Amino acid sequence: MGSRLCSRTACKHPPVYTLTYVYRDSTAVLGPLAAYVEPHCYDLCEKHAARLTAPRGWDVVRLPVEPVQDRADDLEALANAVMETQPRAQAEKEPVGQGVEVGRRGHLRVLRSGPPQDR
Ligand SMILES: [Zn+2]
Repeated sequence: MGSRLCSRTACKHPPVYTLTYVYRDSTAVLGPLAAYVEPHCYDLCEKHAARLTAPRGWDVVRLPVEPVQDRADDLEALANAVMETQPRAQAEKEPVGQGVEVGRRGHLRVLRSGPPQDR
């Protein structure tokens, strides 16, 4: 830890988010910085995370990231913190509507927002 940088070329900023490509669901999941570096995961700084755009045909899922003072390295502790703050976060932010669970990654559920697609 401590040596990780934003994965964008020539960016020297410390990563704040981890972008995970879920190829099976054509979904890019932007969530809290992962504790471990994995294949298909890219660390992003604040600026590049904000600029993130999905490839054509892909969905981008932004997980709620609460400003945590003491950033936990442990993903499990972080997931617990997210769960604790979730009811308050949902009350303060725009309603996300009916999320459709499209996959799981560890403690994280991958949700696709928006109206379900007609089949
Ligand atoms: Zn960056």
